[in-house]
Amino acid sequence: MGEESHPLLDAHILIVDDDAAIRESMDEFIGMAGFRSSTAASAEDALDILDHDYFDVVITDIMLPGMDGLELTDRIKKKHEIDVIVMTGYSGDYSYEEAISKGASDFVFKPVRFEELLLRLKRVLKERRLTQERTQMLEKLKRLSITDGLTKLYNSRYFYNQLKIEIDRTERYQRPLSLLLLDIDKFKDYNDTYGHLEGDQVLIRLGQVIRSCLRKMDSAYRYGGEEFTVILPETEGDEAATVAERIRTAVEMERFTPVKDGDPVSITISIGVTEYNRKEEVALFVQRADKAMYQSKQAGRNRVSCLFTSKS
Ligand code: GH3
Ligand code: MG
Ligand code: MG
Repeated sequence: MGEESHPLLDAHILIVDDDAAIRESMDEFIGMAGFRSSTAASAEDALDILDHDYFDVVITDIMLPGMDGLELTDRIKKKHEIDVIVMTGYSGDYSYEEAISKGASDFVFKPVRFEELLLRLKRVLKERRLTQERTQMLEKLKRLSITDGLTKLYNSRYFYNQLKIEIDRTERYQRPLSLLLLDIDKFKDYNDTYGHLEGDQVLIRLGQVIRSCLRKMDSAYRYGGEEFTVILPETEGDEAATVAERIRTAVEMERFTPVKDGDPVSITISIGVTEYNRKEEVALFVQRADKAMYQSKQAGRNRVSCLFTSKS
């Protein structure tokens, strides 16, 4: 959301009119007002141009040979995020309401008074910018609400959200689904020795390492303080165990320097692996991953354990 000096003037405007004289004079006027503009003589040409270049606003005559301005507006609004201003005569063939119902942002009567057109164009551009800023803000909020602030992985709320979605998909298409639960070994000791802030650095780095070991469809989450989960769609348990082992090794090879000029330190993690069983509760699925992770702890840490059935 950079505040350029004249954000409205960066706008790119497409003028559509079959009358060459009108087209050219409008092009000149809009250009003189400081905007970038292009022209098209028909709706068909306009659609082609819009497919190949970015435009903010289309100003179109409503009466055009072939496809008319209303149909053009309709097509534009269905395919692009572009505002449309329609130019209409006083004849009763077309109504203002029709244009608006197709998604036009505004309209002007012909013969067009350039000053009026310019005012309307500026108002449309301003609203357009406000809408874009609001959309960006909402996207940012959404991103923040599903992201863990420290590691930038997804958070635990989003974990349960996505896990339910993946389970639904799994039930519907009868595909395998696996889950990893990872916990840092003796992390309390690390914090006690090097301080909480250095511990945080480990968490950040771990997030990156985990992510680097995953395929595109896998997703990683910070499940709790020093616990992480990974959802592996389309993945059977033994394959998931391979991914887990890859992560375990990668973490073991990482070196941290919590003390300036001090010796590098390594950390390890314990991982639990499980595969979803048809019709089971989400909680049971997660608990089994947790149980498998706990087995890794009991067996001496820095290892991967698998639990594939629900028996306690
Ligand atoms: P174990 O091998 O059994 O998992 O030992 P552990 O010390 O890792 O386990 P425990 O559950 O006793 O301690 C977890 C530690 O994780 C305690 C807490 O200080 C640390 N921790 C949790 N969240 C954070 C965090 O956000 N930042 C830092 N630096 N440490 C955290
Ligand atoms: Mg823990
Ligand atoms: Mg731990």
